[in-house]
Amino acid sequence: MVISMHELSITKEILDLAVAKAREVNSGRVLQINIVIGNASSVIDDCVQFCFDFVSRETIAQGARLNFLRVPVQMRCRNCGNLFCPEKKTWECPQCMEWDAEIVKGNEFYMDSIEVE
Ligand SMILES: [Zn+2]
Repeated sequence: MVISMHELSITKEILDLAVAKAREVNSGRVLQINIVIGNASSVIDDCVQFCFDFVSRETIAQGARLNFLRVPVQMRCRNCGNLFCPEKKTWECPQCMEWDAEIVKGNEFYMDSIEVE
């Protein structure tokens, strides 16, 4: 498996955040971490869990399960302002047929909540 530095660094950020949150409520163990991940993001769930298992060793989040909530991609047409969900990776606006759209949703990657002991 190829692990990119990008995934490793964002996983480390999530770990640090989860540990800090657990300490805030005086918990000694993180059980689950809920992560929001956009479908346009190149991040792969399995890689993140793998990285997490590695970076969380000997921390209070060791063995925590990561749950991924997928956010669908949404695009906005720069020509007519129409919001649409792209089908089959085409960026064509279904309203005006222009190919000038930007991603407004789907690039998310952040920690939503954690469950502690
Ligand atoms: Zn349009």
